[in-house]
Amino acid sequence: MAYLAYVSVLKKMKFLVDTMLGRIARWLRLFGYDTEYTQSEDDDILYRAVIEGRTILTRDIDFAAKAGKFAYLVQSEILWDKLREIVLEFNIEPKLKLTQCPKCNGRIHEVEKNSIEFLVPKYTFLTHDKFWQCKSCKKVYWRGTHVDLAQKDILTKLRLE
Ligand SMILES: [Zn+2]
Repeated sequence: MAYLAYVSVLKKMKFLVDTMLGRIARWLRLFGYDTEYTQSEDDDILYRAVIEGRTILTRDIDFAAKAGKFAYLVQSEILWDKLREIVLEFNIEPKLKLTQCPKCNGRIHEVEKNSIEFLVPKYTFLTHDKFWQCKSCKKVYWRGTHVDLAQKDILTKLRLE
């Protein structure tokens, strides 16, 4: 099953993203990375990163200096440039995977079609066979809907083609 193949190749890298990089968190989750978003104070962020083994991504130069090896200072300013920088820095495969919920970072797993019949639009239910669901927030996903961009468009946006 494709889903398991995806899981097996995932790197163990986990991220903790601060308020300046909220949209980045969503994309890293879509790429299959365990990425938590935080609005906590600096000391709490650093503590959590150490305890949970996460790499902090921040645009705050002072905080990055303070956090040392636990943080990576993102230099780029535009969304796609930021994402490109992170993808290259951490050798991330910019490929959409259905393993982390882009909304809440919960684990996504494939579910029986019949179990989500009343959770998706009728047309969607009739025209798709495979569905996935977040274990935490229960949001249902299916191919083609969890992001607006096709895989090829992502590579173009990231200038990685
Ligand atoms: Zn979720």
